Amino acid sequence: FKRAMWAGQANILVAVRLRPQLKHDRDRGEIVKVLGNKVVVVLDPGNQKDVVGKMRNRSREKRYAFDYVFSPSDDQRTVYTHTTKFLVHGILQGFNATVFAYGCTGAGKTYTMLGTPDEPGIMGLTLEDLFEHIAAAHARVPALVQYRVTVSFLEVYNENIRDLLRSDPEEDTYLDLREDPVRGPVVADLSEVVASNAEEVMRLLRRGNKNRSQEATAANAVSSRSHAVLQVSVEQTEVTPDTVSVLKTGKLSMIDLAGSERAAVTQNRGLRLLEGANINRSLLALGNCINALGEKANRGAFVPYRDSKLTRLLKDSLGGNCRTVMIANISMSVLSFEETVNTLKYANRAKNI
Ligand code: ADP
Ligand code: MG
Repeated sequence: FKRAMWAGQANILVAVRLRPQLKHDRDRGEIVKVLGNKVVVVLDPGNQKDVVGKMRNRSREKRYAFDYVFSPSDDQRTVYTHTTKFLVHGILQGFNATVFAYGCTGAGKTYTMLGTPDEPGIMGLTLEDLFEHIAAAHARVPALVQYRVTVSFLEVYNENIRDLLRSDPEEDTYLDLREDPVRGPVVADLSEVVASNAEEVMRLLRRGNKNRSQEATAANAVSSRSHAVLQVSVEQTEVTPDTVSVLKTGKLSMIDLAGSERAAVTQNRGLRLLEGANINRSLLALGNCINALGEKANRGAFVPYRDSKLTRLLKDSLGGNCRTVMIANISMSVLSFEETVNTLKYANRAKNI
């Protein structure tokens, strides 16, 4: 019935994932609960003593409904199956799509998108599925239609683009983002790696992820302030004895967004403050584009893609025939109350496309 949903008006799927408490989570106060698989409840920490006791003051709790809400016991494959899996078919049909993980630092974005070698996230599971579909298609129509999969992995850091797959990580150059009339947004000189299996790509991604810009801030020992963007292109060509013609190309962008915590919260100063402003610019622009696209269906609103590097990059992958999946990551700790509410509000605004 998921397909039926996409056949209708909604072209964005918004999910929330509540991560489990970790050993190092000092504060045991838990203020978030999942009801069924569509509703998340946030309890006001002002009422926390009541909550830990027995009485629950319903007036102090807020409920939000989404397409899917994942509880701490839902594993990577469950999240993949209910959010991103259905996109694979569209990519093979030549459509573009975007999946992104939103949330504050420590909420589980990288775990959700990249995961670990034993528990691969959305990126790895999508690639596995994609290569399986391609193998099956090749088996059906041998040699006639050929698929070529290329991947690129970049970060947008401080509104600059860096290649995370570059061969020499010492060489730190920023890449230009250009608008090609036919190909859409193109990052000049970005590495594009031809891929034939998921494990090979995951190794590249893990190495690339270590090249991401990470800086210590007051709020967290290590804070990820960059947006990591994996783009997977699937090109289909028809090969006959005397011609090779491109049939269609689909592109899936999978994004581990920078932490959504505000500069004020991290008590940043100087350069860090500037970074904070830029990060908010991209996140704000992304939210504004998604909201405008929602209005566009009714009123032809202007979509402000040009407001940030991230949205310029995604211009051909958001809106129109493109499908978007947003996974908002939250934790249940009372310490994250404000960020959790901010994340849920951002996700809630994204729902109405
Ligand atoms: P972020 O990228 O949003 O800053 P991480 O993905 O790095 O957050 O998650 C923070 C910590 O929580 C990591 O140690 C990660 O392995 C762990 N974690 C996050 N989500 C889960 C989950 N669903 N199950 C188990 N561990 C998780
Ligand atoms: Mg991260």
